Parts: sequence; structure tokens; C-alpha cells
Amino acid sequence: MNLQTPIREASRSYKMYASRLENLEIYKIEDFLFHVPFRYDDYSLVSKIGVVQAGEKVTVRGEVLDIKNEYTRNRKRIQKAKIGDDTGEINAIWFNQPFILNTIKKGDEVSLSGKADFFGNKLTLISPDYEIVFQNKTIHTGRLVPVYPETRGVSSKWLRRQVYKILEEKKGQFEEFLPEEIRKRENLMDLEEAIDKIHFPDSIEQAENARRRLSFDELFLLQLTTLKKRREWEETGPGNKFEAEKHRTAMENFIKSLPFELTNAQKKAIKEIFGDMSCGKAMNRLLEGEVGSGKTVVAAAAIYLTYLNGYQSAFMAPTEILAQQHYKTLSKLLSPLGLKIGLVTSSTRSSENGKWNTDLLIGTHAIISPKIKFKNLGLVVIDEQQRFGVEQRSAIRNKGKNPHLLSMTATPIPRTVALTVYGDLDLTLLDEMPVGRKKVKTWLVPPQKRDGAYGWIEKEIKLNNSQAFIICPFIEESENMTTVKAATKEFERLKEIFGSLNLGLLHGKMKKDEKEKILKDFEDKKVDILVATPVVEVGIDFPNATIIMIEASERFGLAQLHQLRGRVGRGEKQSYCLLFTEAKNEKTIRRLKSMETIFIGAELAELDLKLRGPGEITGTNQHGRYSLKIADFSDISLIEKARNEAKDMFENLDKYPILNEKIEAESSKHISPD
Ligand code: ADP
Ligand code: MG
Repeated sequence: MNLQTPIREASRSYKMYASRLENLEIYKIEDFLFHVPFRYDDYSLVSKIGVVQAGEKVTVRGEVLDIKNEYTRNRKRIQKAKIGDDTGEINAIWFNQPFILNTIKKGDEVSLSGKADFFGNKLTLISPDYEIVFQNKTIHTGRLVPVYPETRGVSSKWLRRQVYKILEEKKGQFEEFLPEEIRKRENLMDLEEAIDKIHFPDSIEQAENARRRLSFDELFLLQLTTLKKRREWEETGPGNKFEAEKHRTAMENFIKSLPFELTNAQKKAIKEIFGDMSCGKAMNRLLEGEVGSGKTVVAAAAIYLTYLNGYQSAFMAPTEILAQQHYKTLSKLLSPLGLKIGLVTSSTRSSENGKWNTDLLIGTHAIISPKIKFKNLGLVVIDEQQRFGVEQRSAIRNKGKNPHLLSMTATPIPRTVALTVYGDLDLTLLDEMPVGRKKVKTWLVPPQKRDGAYGWIEKEIKLNNSQAFIICPFIEESENMTTVKAATKEFERLKEIFGSLNLGLLHGKMKKDEKEKILKDFEDKKVDILVATPVVEVGIDFPNATIIMIEASERFGLAQLHQLRGRVGRGEKQSYCLLFTEAKNEKTIRRLKSMETIFIGAELAELDLKLRGPGEITGTNQHGRYSLKIADFSDISLIEKARNEAKDMFENLDKYPILNEKIEAESSKHISPD
């Protein structure tokens, strides 16, 4: 068994745990070591039994003088033990954990950590953590004890044991890959020490130093990997050199024909994109902008330039609803200019699949199908790119000869972070909202005001002739029958409540025609309230909708709530976002309340990172490269250090074979842009 051995092949007992461990992103033995604690229980106060006082959180060590199961009067089982050392005796008690008697026997030397208190009238350790002392060492008690993100059937205690075992076994086998000069300059711990001490630190400060070293590694390697990707992209050969200047007038006329004035950020983005497309290399640009910042029209300009140069464009969106909406928006903008536009989704009939002979083909991932061929694909636009996998993104590009690539995202991340995570791409931030947008007034509504809120929504819709979204609870990561059932039930309930209004239901499992119809009805204002599963999260644009009400809002990340909130506030009218939660936890309430005062996606994203506890459901839109295991995106200063070191190192990589190897390995795994 070495560090690279996959869990499934490691041993029979590991094999049983394999799928559970995958929930924790532990796939091979090494991953245990990088599954780091999110906190430490401080059981470092080790006390002689004779001096333990009530109220103390302590660890005692001694011999088990007695241990037994007892039934209480209401037939619950409790376990009682008596422990002694040379200074005295103390009791310990557990509730309904009979299996403890299999582990701890009379005569064992044990270590117990927990709170001491009076039980009956005897000083007792209440439900302490316990372990048999082995070779005079303890891992679950008597020290700073690591607590890990857990999953069903995988406890911190179990993880701790595995980590300890692996560390013992692999001592001396961790190869230092960071050059000494960097370690010195950045004041970083040795690798092996860091891996050891992040799990079993002697002090909190030491744990923090260990974490800092491992975070640095993660960011540093990430940055080197993206730099490598960038170089590879640059070496893919020449791209299509488009004429931009020649079509200046046509482009100006297009922009003048828009129903609004472009923001400065949009103008700048278009300029940068045209610069890329006309320089002879294939563009690889990420357009990042808040929901509603107007990315679509920027893409439209790029598509139009592609058309004017005699090439085709492909536009890929993550959901069918969104693809349809883009089809409509872009048709409105570009058809009058002569472009032929087609739509492919998994539910477009096969007879329609001949439509690729268009100037612009819009679709879901169905557009990747081998049946769909392009004559001369010159531009690929990927909307909400974080929703696509690496393979999908490169498959669409491979339909042309080194076409230009414009990726778009609304995932709000701070600029420094973006530069690290997307270091291989050129980055354009649309950091300006179209004028006249009003802030979406946001309230966290307490449960007792629910009925009042319903009444208010009804009045508001009637008074302002506007419309609302009600977002059903987020039940599962992906849309499945449980979600659909819950949404349908909620829909029926809401129909009763809003008797005088028209309600429509939208969920991911509906047929294409049904979805289309309901969206059309919503657009035509035949439907006043659209009850939806969180599928509406991405991109939908209905300027007349002014209210969004979100159920079980604690189940979303703040950035995700912000995305949802972005479904309203798209027109002139004042818009509102009502957040509901049954959660009572003060921290959760505070987290949600920040939605009332913060309206900048990147800020909410940062806050999310700081507040988010482990195990909390944060939704589906943060996978892929926007996830770090150890480092924290809010640690801007460490990110900057790692970036600078990586930039210097990149030119001299040949001199560092171990590091080079590490990066090779790194680039072939998870974080992998195309
Ligand atoms: P996103 O960046 O979230 O994809 P969209 O491209 O869907 O945003 O644009 C959101 C809305 O803003 C659309 O209704 C669009 O027509 C409108 N819009 C885009 N640019 C401007 C602008 N410069 N001024 C006013 N409205 C704009
Ligand atoms: Mg969009």
C-alpha cells in the first residue's frame, strides 16, 4: 500500500468504505492526509484524577477499575466506569453506547477526555471521548484532537485513526518539492512536518503554520498548472485572424441599434475581445460579470464579428431553458442583420438536427453530439462555463480548427482569486451594472410573518402589474423525483393561498414543450407567479418579474442566493427578494441577514467562504476549479505570494525536476481548464 494506491484497491476494509470516502473526496491513500481538520478539540489539559474539578474540560489517564452496562428506570441503557490513578478515582458515564464495553475492559489503561461534572453526587466525566493507551501515546484524547468533515458512516474518530496509521507508516517518505529558497523566503514549514502537524499539532499556532504551508502548496501548484495550460494554449498554433477594422461601420450600426447604451465595461470588453480575435492567435478569454451585468450582448458582438468574417459561431448554455432564452434574445438581436440561427437541445427532434448549417448554433451540451458538424467554426461561446466539465468544453472546441473561445461566468469571485484560478485565461471583468438598475430590496422573513408576506406579494403583483418567482426548497444537488414531488406539492399548496392569481410550475423534469409553454405564459403575463425548483438559478431574463421568494434559504450559499436574486431587478421597477428559513441557529440567521445589506456578488462570495461551515450544502455551482481543499480564497495575501513565486518559478522549472513532476501529475487531475 503506497500513498497513490486507490482506496478501492487498498484493503478489504477500505474497499467497504470507498464510496463513502468519495463523498469526502478521498480516492486514494494520500487523500486521507489532505483531508484536513476544520477544528481541533482542546483536550490538552491532562490532569491527575485527584485534582479534577467540576466544570473542567479535562483528560485523565488511569486504570479501569470497573465497567458495566445498566438500565435506567425508563429502560435506557447507560454505561458506567470507574477509573483510578495514584491520586484517586473518578466515574465516567455514557448514554446508550453499549459497544463501549467491547473496547474497554476492566484492567485496561485508558485515557478519557470530556467535561467533569456531578452526576448523582459523584464527580463524573460525562460522555467522554475514550481510548486505550497504546505505547504511551494517545490520538483521540489528551491533546489537541483534530475534528474532520465527516460523512455518514465515517466519523472523525475513524478518520483520525487512519490518518495516524498512515502517518506512522509513511514517515520519512514525503518528498520535499518546494525549493528551499522559497520555503525560507515565505517562512514555510517543511512538507513532512506540515502534513503531520496539521493533524496532530502540539499547539494551535503550529497547526496554523502547518495549514499555511499546505495552503501555499495548493495555491502555488494551482498557479503553476494554469501557467502551464496557458503556455500549451499558446503553442496550439495560429488562430483565425479576423478583420475588425474593416467592419467598423457595420459594428457601430449594430451597437446603435441596441435598445440601450452599452456600459463602459461592456465597451471595454468588446474592445478586448476584438483585439484577441484579430491578433492571429486563438482567443481564450473569460468574461466574468455579475448576474445582469449584460454579458449576452457582449457575446452577440463577438458572434456578429465572426459572421462578418465569414465564420460560424457556437453558443453553449447549461440548461435547456437558458438555451431557449438565448436563442430568442440572440435571434432578436442578430437575425435582422442577416444571421441564420439554429437551436439544438436534447429534445429538439432529430429532423431538426440538420440545422447546423447556420451562422450561429445555440444549444445545450447536446450541441457536442457527433451528429452536429460545422463548416467552419470560428467562435465558441460557453455561457455559465463553470457548469460544464473539461471534456465538454474541449469537445465543443474540437468541432472547429482552433476556434476562438469566449467563456462566460457569473460566479462572483474576487479579482485576485480569479487571476489564480483562471490564470491560464485572459480575464475581462464586467464590473459595472447597466444604469438605472435599482438594488433589489431584500428581507429575511421570520416564520411568523409568512402569511403576511403572502398577502403582501399578492397585493404587490396586483398593484404594479408585476410578477413573482417562488423558489422551492433545494432538496438534492441534482433535480430528481424527490425535488419534483416536493415542488409539485408546494405548488398545490400555493395555488390555494393565491386563489385569485395564476400560478405556473417549472421544474427540470418537465418535457421541453411544457417548459416552453410555461415560460411563454410567464412572459406573456398569463402566469403571475412562477413556482420553480432552483433550476431558474442561471441566466433567465424576465424584466417584468419584481419579486423572488426563496424557501429554505439556509440551504444555499450566499453567492448562490445572490444569483437567484439576480432573476429580478432587471427592469425599471423596484424589485424585492424575500428569504425564508426555518433555521433558528444564530449564525445562520446572521449569514442570511447579510443579504439585506450586501449587493456585490464577490463580497458575498468571500463572506460565504469565511462563514461556511463544513458539511453545509452550498449548491452545485461551485465545483470544478473553483474549489480548494485546504487554502482559503479569502486569504488574499497568501494567494498573491503564491502567484508571485509561481511566476518566477515557471521560467526555471527545468531546474526543479521534483516540482516539475508534481505539476505534470497535477495538471492531469481535477483542476483542468481547456
Ligand atoms: P448576464 O450578464 O447575467 O448574462 P444579460 O446579458 O442577460 O445579463 O443581461 C441582463 C439584462 O440587461 C437583459 O435584459 C439585457 O437586455 C439588459 N442589458 C444588457 N446591457 C444593458 C445596458 N448596457 N443597459 C441596459 N440594459 C442592458
Ligand atoms: Mg447570462
